[in-house]
Amino acid sequence: MEIKSCLTIHEVGKLLKKKEVSAVELAESCLQRIEKLEPHLKAFTTVTAELALKQAEEADRKFKHGEATPLTGVPAAMKDLLCTMGVRTTCSSHILESFAPPYDATVIKKLKDAGMVMLGKTNMDEFAMGSSTENSAFFVTHNPWDTARVPGGSSGGSAAAVAAGETVYALGSDTGGSIRQPAGFCSIVGLKPTYGRVSRFGLIAYASSLDQIGPMTRDVTDAALVMNTIAGHDAGDATSVDCPVPDYTQSLTGDIRGLRLGVPKEYFTTGMQPEVSQTVRTAIAKMEALGAKVDWEASLPSTSYALAVYYVIAPSEASANLARYDGAKYGFSYAQTENMWEVMEKTRQFGFGPEVKRRIMLGTYALSAGYYDAYYLKAQKVRTIIRREFEQAFEKYDAIVTPTSPTVPFMIGEKTSDPLRMYLSDVCTLPINIAGVPALSLPAGFVGGLPVGMQVIARPFAEETIFKIAYAYEQATDWHRMKPEI
Ligand code: GLN
Repeated sequence: MEIKSCLTIHEVGKLLKKKEVSAVELAESCLQRIEKLEPHLKAFTTVTAELALKQAEEADRKFKHGEATPLTGVPAAMKDLLCTMGVRTTCSSHILESFAPPYDATVIKKLKDAGMVMLGKTNMDEFAMGSSTENSAFFVTHNPWDTARVPGGSSGGSAAAVAAGETVYALGSDTGGSIRQPAGFCSIVGLKPTYGRVSRFGLIAYASSLDQIGPMTRDVTDAALVMNTIAGHDAGDATSVDCPVPDYTQSLTGDIRGLRLGVPKEYFTTGMQPEVSQTVRTAIAKMEALGAKVDWEASLPSTSYALAVYYVIAPSEASANLARYDGAKYGFSYAQTENMWEVMEKTRQFGFGPEVKRRIMLGTYALSAGYYDAYYLKAQKVRTIIRREFEQAFEKYDAIVTPTSPTVPFMIGEKTSDPLRMYLSDVCTLPINIAGVPALSLPAGFVGGLPVGMQVIARPFAEETIFKIAYAYEQATDWHRMKPEI
């Protein structure tokens, strides 16, 4: 049966509820689309067709017995760093190429309990280190809006799969922009929740004080629906916060009259494509027309230090987190020697790609005895300053609005030889992880046929404010209805 592609969770949910389509038919239709599009997109590292059909049958049973939730029977794709029991979880790295975890990440367990149909695992930059998915050890993912361009990263596979209608929604993870930047590049919605809002248990760690899991969806309503299921305290993650999870769909009122928005001038500076800046300003003016009170001259003065702070803290944490890949416990192990030290050395030499090695070296250096104070400690101090600036800004504003990225999606290969230029793709998103606050990217228009994302940031645990603002803008525009022709 031919089912219209690019439906949202709430649209699919209605069809399922009215029994106009079964979960099995829906899964089959997505699997067919995956088969057709994957040669052009390469968004998936693993397609779990058999599992999807089994879960779909189970979902159809739930519908029959009246046990369905809004996510029951809805096809989903998971970034390949979320542990899935018995299903290969690679981090797009050779070192975990054949690693099948013995347990599910908490988010996976919650989605399974809600009746998810998992289509597969999505491609990413190796260990989530990158902004283009070009650092995958396996292959590059292509942007559905222009297959010569990157989908963003590191959750590029998830973003491309959602935008192209291979899946209805996906999960990604975001350490410095990895949900929001690819969401912006593929014209979908991506939310990085407050640090502590979603359990990180079973998320393969990159930089533990910055990592968060979040939804990547076709519209704001879907993001709220996924958050309703994945948010909440979890004994498996000591940093997850024990405060009640609201029903996020309640904030989708469309009314933003009187809300105070700050537009920080530091986010519209050097290196930004003028058309991107113009597109986002036009989008913010639309929100002003909807009744929001906009301060166009807001300021977060330490913004320019965020990139340097991030590239000390994230690699430092990564160098510690990645020490566990020693050839003894997980995945790939170099076998051509009996010497224990050589096993470790060669496992890491052949198992990790160049960007991962670069980060391990940067982090090890920053943490070494003679340099700890000069780099790591100083970065932590500046981190506190950046966080305080956000706190102060949120005394004046309900939300802060910025572009998600300084440019539209760039060409595959354009930035691979210049790591610093690549790192700069996240200038607008990194500060948010440093501050630990929530932020969402949503479609704000197109420049030359390429997507532009807008970022809405709020104070800790104010995801509802973000949803309210994003929904109002979305309902007043048509960007989320546009589909790539592929
Ligand atoms: N691009 C940034 C990095 O390479 C952020 C990646 C992420 O959020 N995982 O570290």
